[in-house]
Amino acid sequence: MKNCQQIAALASAYADGELSGVEWAELRMHLWLCPPCRKYVEQIELTREVLEKLPTDEVPQEVQSELLGRFKQWVADGAPAEDDPFDE
Ligand SMILES: [Zn+2]
Repeated sequence: MKNCQQIAALASAYADGELSGVEWAELRMHLWLCPPCRKYVEQIELTREVLEKLPTDEVPQEVQSELLGRFKQWVADGAPAEDDPFDE
């Protein structure tokens, strides 16, 4: 069983559809049992969607890096690693 920190580390690969079958299954299982991680992954997926829908050639570079910076800050602040029900 993976702990929340491992799930957080896999979350962006999951959102990109890059996980192997076993990792994907472990992550889905964890998300099913762990609402904070579910929320975390949902936020990542949502952010990906928004970024993908932006017409990138019309968005100034500085706005893109601003958004990305905010997202990274959010991940740094909000990663569900501290309150970890699966940590022994
Ligand atoms: Zn978790």
